[in-house]
Amino acid sequence: MLIDTYDLEVFTPPCDPGAERFSAIARLRTDIREVLPYLNATLRGAVYNPGAPALTWTKGGHRIVFHPYQIAVSNVLDREVAIQEVEGLIKLVNRTWERRAEIQPNFEVRRRPDLMEVYKLLPRSNCKACGEASCFVFANRLVTGQVTLERCPVLSEPQYAQQQAQLAEMFADEMPAIGRGEETP
Ligand code: SF4
Repeated sequence: MLIDTYDLEVFTPPCDPGAERFSAIARLRTDIREVLPYLNATLRGAVYNPGAPALTWTKGGHRIVFHPYQIAVSNVLDREVAIQEVEGLIKLVNRTWERRAEIQPNFEVRRRPDLMEVYKLLPRSNCKACGEASCFVFANRLVTGQVTLERCPVLSEPQYAQQQAQLAEMFADEMPAIGRGEETP
């Protein structure tokens, strides 16, 4: 097991005092930098920065950053949700580390989905059914990991099947390489 203990901090982001959503940081006692290329190989849409080193990933409306001694999660509702998210991520890291012999590590630096590219794939009807003021606002929140694709019901209409598939590929969570077992967050 790579991570067996951590300290959790839950706080309002300093750039957004009074926000109703919180950020959480799990401070680790173990250096997890060696698992980052394995996570990069298995998490779709992850952005790996070997220089930092850091790996950024969006999942379920959360922006997650893995650093050598910490895991940061944004956009959490409260401390309980933060604990659930962090525990799920720690299981993911441990499972990936345990299965590293089956995974080809990936040192490639991928780019984050481009805002305009994402926007162009949305229906662009500005219908507000997602709760956002426009498709552009929704695209921005998608790219920053604050919402998930399912929030746009219009994308499920048959005429948008191709765009939906492209977006799903861009924002997919986890590749089958490490499966989606019971412990998957
Ligand atoms: S529901 Fe979809 S189509 Fe409607 S505003 Fe939101 S993103 Fe645009």
